[in-house]
Amino acid sequence: MTNLFLTEKIKSLLPAYLQFLNEEVYPIELAVINRPFRQSLPLLKNLRAKTKEKKLWAPHLSEKDGGVGLTLVEFAQISELLGSSPIGHYLFNCQAPDIGNMELLHGFASAELKKKYLVPLMNGDIRSCFAMTEPELAGSNPVRLATTAKREGNDYVINGHKWFTSSADGASFTIVMAVTDAQNPSPYLRASMILVPIPNEGYELARNVPIMGEAGEDYISHGEVRFTNCPVPVSNLIGEEGKGFALAQARLGPGRIHHCMRWIGICERAFDLMCQRAATRKLDEHRYLGHQQIIQAWIAECRAEINAARLMVLHTAYEMEQAGSKAVKDEVAAIKFYVANVLSNVIDKAIQVHGALGITDDTLLSFWYRHERAARIYDGPDEVHKTSLAKSILKKYGLSFTG
Ligand SMILES: Cc1cc2nc3c(=O)[nH]c(=O)nc-3n(C[C@H](O)[C@H](O)[C@H](O)COP(=O)(O)OP(=O)(O)OC[C@H]3O[C@@H](n4cnc5c(N)ncnc54)[C@H](O)[C@@H]3O)c2cc1C
Repeated sequence: MTNLFLTEKIKSLLPAYLQFLNEEVYPIELAVINRPFRQSLPLLKNLRAKTKEKKLWAPHLSEKDGGVGLTLVEFAQISELLGSSPIGHYLFNCQAPDIGNMELLHGFASAELKKKYLVPLMNGDIRSCFAMTEPELAGSNPVRLATTAKREGNDYVINGHKWFTSSADGASFTIVMAVTDAQNPSPYLRASMILVPIPNEGYELARNVPIMGEAGEDYISHGEVRFTNCPVPVSNLIGEEGKGFALAQARLGPGRIHHCMRWIGICERAFDLMCQRAATRKLDEHRYLGHQQIIQAWIAECRAEINAARLMVLHTAYEMEQAGSKAVKDEVAAIKFYVANVLSNVIDKAIQVHGALGITDDTLLSFWYRHERAARIYDGPDEVHKTSLAKSILKKYGLSFTG
């Protein structure tokens, strides 16, 4: 953590969050991630109630909505702290994809949808998911969608196939991105976002897609879902028809900052584990792992990378607050791929320092290795963000990119 962006509010809140993590979360997290997630739901429900009692619940939401009322820069710092545990964000109801859906509904849903879905989501009574990516088409080019929503009377009838609908298992609704105007000359105006209640006629969770040997369940899962003549009232449209891509951009801007700060929290925890191991693992009577120059180099490099990543993310959050999402498009692209790669490197080095122990499930590292490799893919793969940033830079040098 850096003092640079610490407000009085954050200074007063940090000890309470830290105490909760130390006393309630760190002691149980390994057991939770190493057994089927549903087995832990009663325990987690209890802990979620405690975070509410202590007024630490939903740091990103306004106080009026039952949250702590932090600014984006303030939330980024709490998000880092919560990221230090695999169940941190979930316990405080600021976990993806729900946090993004809360923002979407807050900004663009009708009063009726807000009452029915946003309020229980903010209270933590239900969960949600977001269905955009399709197995048959490249998700990196999101204007190509095969899922359709056709108007029939007062309904949209949805047909399509999605996957990586994270946390669909156990969700009470999904927000689906579907084509509503296939003939629109602009591919950016063809799709809309529609809220589909779950269960619903024509909606099916086909399976939880196995990830590196683990299908997961409930919150920790990635669903493959099908919509077959699935009817939804037209009033379940979010925002305006044809504005799905604009909404997706609105959802992804702050969302990438949330992910990046969570990743820095993971980096700090993995770094801490790595240093503890280096300082205590004996190679012989006189030497510890940490006496080896190559291990020292990894520690120094990881320290520098994490520090740099944090400042980049906080600076981007600060600029976004001042000037809005559009103004920091390049900065968001830069942090998305930079921090994802720092994360991959730090987890990998921490595992290497642990030797065989690093790949067992006796530490948190293997969980993060399995689950966070994806950081370089979701919310836009590295290559897409690098291309976008480089083009933006080169345009300033007069290079044009048509066709
Ligand atoms: C853990 C996880 C959770 C996810 N959660 C959700 C979710 O909740 N909801 C949802 O809708 N989606 C979700 N996704 C899907 C995610 O958004 C897509 O995987 C992502 O957009 C990439 O699409 P794709 O997998 O189809 O890869 P493709 O588009 O097929 O791309 C494959 C690879 O090609 C390369 N590539 C792509 N485009 C370019 C380019 N322009 N230039 C150079 N190289 C390129 C990249 O290396 C990329 O990794 C999730 C994915 C993961 C892994």
